Amino acid sequence: MRSIRATRTLPLRRSVGAVLLVAALASACAEPSDGAGGAGGGGGSQGKPAPGQPREQAQGASGALNAYVEKVRKQRAARAVAAKKWGLDRPPLDAPAPPAVKPRITTRKGFETDGEGLPPVFTTVPTKEKVVFLTIDDGAEKDPELLRMMSELRIPYSAFLSDYLVKDDYGYFKKMQDAGVSLHNHTLNHRYMPGLSYEAQKREICGMQDTIEKRYGKRPPLFRPPYGNYNEDTLRAARSCGVKAVPLWAAEAFPDRMEWREWDRDLHPGDIVLTHFRGKGDWKGSMPDMIRRVMKTITAKGYAVARLEDYV
Ligand SMILES: [Zn+2]
Repeated sequence: MRSIRATRTLPLRRSVGAVLLVAALASACAEPSDGAGGAGGGGGSQGKPAPGQPREQAQGASGALNAYVEKVRKQRAARAVAAKKWGLDRPPLDAPAPPAVKPRITTRKGFETDGEGLPPVFTTVPTKEKVVFLTIDDGAEKDPELLRMMSELRIPYSAFLSDYLVKDDYGYFKKMQDAGVSLHNHTLNHRYMPGLSYEAQKREICGMQDTIEKRYGKRPPLFRPPYGNYNEDTLRAARSCGVKAVPLWAAEAFPDRMEWREWDRDLHPGDIVLTHFRGKGDWKGSMPDMIRRVMKTITAKGYAVARLEDYV
């Protein structure tokens, strides 16, 4: 009974939201309704100042709103064109505005170590929004098409780099950073961390902090251990050189399939999705093929991709 009610109310709520959105977009495109027209005409009721409110201020507020709605409309149209160009059957959904205050993130149950005050290890960001986060690891494949595709589709993602794979072309990731992507730490040499001493782990993690700072001007706040394996020493070493959080992943994307951590084999609000910089030599497709596949899943399930750094 419960589940029937849930499935009935959901589409209704969505359609109300859609109607409001359409109304907002329509009102932004409408001409002033009183026919006065002209720059000084003041327009319809929207532009009329409230009693006691300065006229310019009211016009400024409604003008800013109109400009915003118009910007959103244009971005959406451009995204639809880009989606067609890149072979997506549907354009990516718009992410909601970032939270005013970042959620408090704690270590996932069962992922704890004995240490206290260590960076949290998590696979999902606590949020009620229907957003997921895309993260791309390692750095072997340096496909210029990926940069173009993600910029044109305006899909945010975060890169977790391992120096031994990126050092033959730091410039590729500089372009990525210039396009608004944050570059994070995935160690110097992609070793299995729990097999190393504290000192060796520290060299791997803190050495990569230094390398990213030197090459890209910014010390990463996020670190992901290779294979998702870590122990207390890993987290202590990471903390010692400025790592604030350790995002793992809830799902992994490939060009031909998804792999899921959870038993329900589904996405959840705030899930972190992992994929890799790989090409046809490593798996069944190119980077754009992989993005098409994962975006098909994400969009079909009603999720938008948001910026991880807006939440963490
Ligand atoms: Zn890796």
